[in-house]
Amino acid sequence: MPESPQYASVAVPLPIRKTFSYEIPEPWKGAAVPGRRVLVPFGRRFLAGYVVEVTSASPAGKKILPIHRLFDEEFTLSGKYLSFLDWTARYYLHPLGEVIKAALPAGMQLKKREVYEATPRGLEKIGSLPEGSLERKILLALKKKGGKGPLSSKLSGNTGRPWIPVIAGMISEGLIAKEGEAIEQKIKDKSIPFLRALEPPDPVPLTARQKEAYDVIRENGEMSLQEYKVKFKGSNSILLKLLNLKLVESFKKNTFRTPSWEGLDDWNDGPPDLLTGDQKSALEEISAALSSAKFIPFLLHGVTGSGKTEVYLRAIEETVARGKQAILLVPEIALTAQSVAYFQSRIRFPVAILHSGLSPAERYDEWRRVKRGLVKLVIGARSAIFAPLDDLGLIIVDEEHDPSYKQEEKLRYQARDLSLVRGKMEQAVVVLGSATPSMESFHNAMEKKFRYLSLPRRVDDRPLPEIQIVDMRREKDGEKERPIFSRPLEEALNQNANLGEQALLFLNRRGFSSFSLCRDCGYVYRCPNCSVSLNYHLADKAFHCHYCDYSQRGAERCPQCSSIRLQLFGIGTQRLEEEIKKKFPRVAVGRMDRDTMTRSSAYQKILSQVRRGEVNLLIGTQMITKGHDLPRVTLVGVLAADLSLNIPDFRAGERTCQLLTQVAGRSGRGSLPGKVIIQTFNPQHYSIQTAKGQAFVPFYEQELNFRKETGYPPFTRLVNLRLEGNVEAQVKRQAENMEKVVERFLKDRRYSEQIEALGPAAAPLSRLKGKHRFQMLLKGKKWQLLHEFTERVLAGLEQAHPLPGVKLIVDVDPVNML
Ligand code: ADP
Ligand code: ZN
Ligand code: ZN
Repeated sequence: MPESPQYASVAVPLPIRKTFSYEIPEPWKGAAVPGRRVLVPFGRRFLAGYVVEVTSASPAGKKILPIHRLFDEEFTLSGKYLSFLDWTARYYLHPLGEVIKAALPAGMQLKKREVYEATPRGLEKIGSLPEGSLERKILLALKKKGGKGPLSSKLSGNTGRPWIPVIAGMISEGLIAKEGEAIEQKIKDKSIPFLRALEPPDPVPLTARQKEAYDVIRENGEMSLQEYKVKFKGSNSILLKLLNLKLVESFKKNTFRTPSWEGLDDWNDGPPDLLTGDQKSALEEISAALSSAKFIPFLLHGVTGSGKTEVYLRAIEETVARGKQAILLVPEIALTAQSVAYFQSRIRFPVAILHSGLSPAERYDEWRRVKRGLVKLVIGARSAIFAPLDDLGLIIVDEEHDPSYKQEEKLRYQARDLSLVRGKMEQAVVVLGSATPSMESFHNAMEKKFRYLSLPRRVDDRPLPEIQIVDMRREKDGEKERPIFSRPLEEALNQNANLGEQALLFLNRRGFSSFSLCRDCGYVYRCPNCSVSLNYHLADKAFHCHYCDYSQRGAERCPQCSSIRLQLFGIGTQRLEEEIKKKFPRVAVGRMDRDTMTRSSAYQKILSQVRRGEVNLLIGTQMITKGHDLPRVTLVGVLAADLSLNIPDFRAGERTCQLLTQVAGRSGRGSLPGKVIIQTFNPQHYSIQTAKGQAFVPFYEQELNFRKETGYPPFTRLVNLRLEGNVEAQVKRQAENMEKVVERFLKDRRYSEQIEALGPAAAPLSRLKGKHRFQMLLKGKKWQLLHEFTERVLAGLEQAHPLPGVKLIVDVDPVNML
């Protein structure tokens, strides 16, 4: 009697929030388990998906197709891991298949290739085709594959012949035929040639050199061909002879491609002899938590230079000593390469590093090393929260307040929040560290949801820098426009240069100037794709959009009225660099912003230059505020503290306080005391005043009042529903439809008591990259209810026949609402 059929629900990478059912063919019952990667037919193509559930109940609906192929067991996701991804999908209201795709390295995605077959006529003709011709190469390649297979266009190599016409010609001549399609993984495993010595049944006479080569191979057991060539310097014919005599065999072995660390000098200062008292007590608490092997979250609030890195390092070492694994999340690898290098120099167990600077192949291989359990620690940017470790004991999120933990496209997750979810699921300890914790995390610590650890002093009792606020409203210099440098900043820069010390200047705007204005008709260069003015760049004397890649050359005369009275306003880092070079011609200046840091090695290069004293004044955007440890910097100047205050975002005050405190923290980290000068037009603003006192707690209290009054996080949760489309009227109409759906559900008292809807309104950036944008913000006191409500709104919108050409983006816990 045939057994009853089994069915699998499969999550596929498509923007549909549901799974699809497939029949499990008889031989794969027991193998097609939840977590198994499978290839399934979908419409007219095949998709790689994951089994999430297996049932014997026959699914309703149309004909159920069978699973087409099982992928290697190596790619099977554990139940624990799958639950984590499933939670992520539900929380961020995103299709599970797309969540899985986002969590796995892109190299695992599939590509389709044509399969060709050599015809008998083609095989017969090989001999008569000219040596080295592309036709001959193609036929030989197919012959080698047993007559058929996919072809690589690389075969055309240096023949200089175009691929497609040659293939078409061979098909019409009947030399080859199209046989079908093969579906393959984008990145293949890399294998390299290896050698192994064999014991001959009878002694074989060898020359002295042959014997020498044979011994090298035999002594090594197995060795790569490359290693052999290093150890034995001799001609190839010796090895060929050994292979022919069957004294040595060659075989292929898989290896991992390892990422290179270009430009990383040795940053190692060696371990400190003694922990500070604060470090010690923080570690004792973390250590007790690790030994309990339970989910215990901590907020490690340590001022800049208090030695948080050392705490992370020892907590990780202890985790590994307990036989468990750890994840260390850092905001942006390129900017934090210094601490990554420091970690690598201090630890003696295998580490994987996952970040966007790796090639797809390196990323795929790092992922596989993690998946096989070959590493103890994963260091990475936000996506490393998805590292497939099986025995997680500790997750650390460094600079937990950093906005880069929020992914701003597709799956809009917040890695810091997910670290808590994963920690809870895996009973791991979670440490969120920062000098300027996010409002959310600080609130959680005050509410006793997190344990609060504090490092209130700098290492060696070094003083925090002295901060001076300069009121730029008073800095008008006679009749002329306002100066770029206030007198106090200019004096301090002079003194810094005279003493041979180093300085950082922070200006959060790149380019030369932020806009140009015609003094006669008011014309301003604007981006045709985005609702912003264009920034002038000196390097190419052109106007650039900072939101899309649009640029245009600047003209001598106003494009509207031909006036020559065009004036540039709003200074950027390029202009600042010019001004500094004019004022301080003898100081070695460097600049760190998106325009100069086009390669990831550029960061290490410029930071090394500062360390070695080849650059003594570093100008930069917020990149320079990140945790760099530059001991000779004694002066930090903030040119325009107001830039981040004037952004229409409820987090503007928090961001400003964090940026100012972080950049101030770069000063006076070595043995010399530091000074900070902040230029502002809002000297009384509490973000600036509290940054001056470097007192986070008073800031937190004041900001919390503001959040409570206005009903923003951490007192509420938010979901931003954004509509985008090419035609403004369509987007607006869809926004009105959305409003109707929201209002309909809000009639239910259960929702209206807890949930508030703002908008729809045009987004502050009402046009971006050619798309018109409208948004509606949902606020809820309890996230479960807010989610339930949002789910119903989404379902309601689907039923209401969405307008074509308008895309809905669901952003849960939004950070960027421009
Ligand atoms: P944070 O991340 O808190 O800003 P770091 O971890 O970068 O601070 O530490 C600041 C500096 O102090 C680093 O140069 C580090 O090597 C050093 N340091 C850390 N702990 C100690 C210690 N216990 N004794 C001496 N130096 C230490
Ligand atoms: Zn004009
Ligand atoms: Zn633009």
